[in-house]
Amino acid sequence: MENYVFNASEEYALKLDKNDCLASFRNEFYVMDGKIYLDGNSLGLLSKRSETSLLTLLDSWKQFGIDGWMEGENAWFDLSERLGGRLASLIGALPVEVIVSGSTTSNLHQMIATFYQPQGEKVKILADELNFPSDIYAIQSELKLKGFDPHTHLVQVSSRDGRIIEEDDIIRAMTDDIALIVLPSVLYRSGQILNMKRLTEEAHQRGIIIGFDLCHSIGAIPHELSDWGVDFAVWCNYKYLNSGPGSVGGLYVHKKHFGQVPGLAGWFSSRKDKQFDMEHVLTPASHAGAYQMGTPHILSMAPLIGSLEIFEEAGLKNIRNKSLLMTRYMMDLIKYELREMGFSLGNPIEDSRRGGHVFLEHQEAARICKALKVNGVIPDFRAPNGIRLAPVALYNTFKEVWETVQILKRIMTDEEYKQFENKREVVA
Ligand SMILES: *Cc1c(COP(=O)(O)O)cnc(C)c1O
Repeated sequence: MENYVFNASEEYALKLDKNDCLASFRNEFYVMDGKIYLDGNSLGLLSKRSETSLLTLLDSWKQFGIDGWMEGENAWFDLSERLGGRLASLIGALPVEVIVSGSTTSNLHQMIATFYQPQGEKVKILADELNFPSDIYAIQSELKLKGFDPHTHLVQVSSRDGRIIEEDDIIRAMTDDIALIVLPSVLYRSGQILNMKRLTEEAHQRGIIIGFDLCHSIGAIPHELSDWGVDFAVWCNYKYLNSGPGSVGGLYVHKKHFGQVPGLAGWFSSRKDKQFDMEHVLTPASHAGAYQMGTPHILSMAPLIGSLEIFEEAGLKNIRNKSLLMTRYMMDLIKYELREMGFSLGNPIEDSRRGGHVFLEHQEAARICKALKVNGVIPDFRAPNGIRLAPVALYNTFKEVWETVQILKRIMTDEEYKQFENKREVVA
């Protein structure tokens, strides 16, 4: 980053690739021929290691049958705990504070069911108006289950510009009636990073429990959840962590809460040595494992084994540095090449506030995305006017960023996008 001085030439893109210490990791992935994949923040690409780890676990079923729970290199019984332990460094947690289990949405249900304990005047849940709908639906249904009306008991902090949520506005909304706060670490549209450390301190000063959804930050930016005192977090492993469609997600609970009975219990919440006593009184695990419910989805967890190896080798710091440089470079190219074409950057510009993707806004965004796809570039569209472009440090190149902006320029200059309807597809 120190040596970066913007230059719009193709040679400069090639030079950035040459100086890239992570360049070799691209070979670890199945990069699609003739495509520029910029959608790794929706679904990361398959790596060869993940393919191998999936096949290995399939084979352990073939070889061991029921004994696969305890036998083989990746015995299934405590695989969730072991993978949680390995994942912990990506979020700055202790190994025992993390478990690989469930999905973002089911884990969020579990966390709210566990930590939302309305008492006295503290009865409401605070969220933001830009969060992913699934998180909001989960909060609404948990409120209803506790007998409250989401219209009065869910407070959503508004955005001043439709892109960013100001931390000051969130803190102002931390009133005496708030029991629990659920926020994203990185906003899925604008890519804004919320200051988790500051928000956690402010919440705790007011006796409020706070948790974050890390879907758009895990594997992309560093976290220090444990040191910051964050109460809980949930995430999926199929975005930057490249563990496959619907792969098993994860959750984190700060160790100060260990012993808290899971709101939604099941036999996998049990202390492992007690589980097969088959008692009707649960003895919960003494760590994050307590927030599991049923039998782990082993085959959907398997790709994470290979994927984590790659993160351990590449190092999150290197990944973040390259990602920041790629998004910086992309923004510079956009400003230089796409002037006066109706684009605006909807993501924060500052490094400290910018997640892993660039959010490009345009009135014709839906059909520009379709034209990009026809030209081999895979972005994703976020209604009504957003184009998300995620250059992923582990497998995208600076040359691809350069090409993408050239293609965008051509689509606009030749008005190629006008061949398409300005309407989103079913899956966008
Ligand atoms: C991707 C994403 C989800 C998806 O939740 P699943 O339960 O994995 O389907 C939820 N929240 C946010 C913020 C996301 O980005």
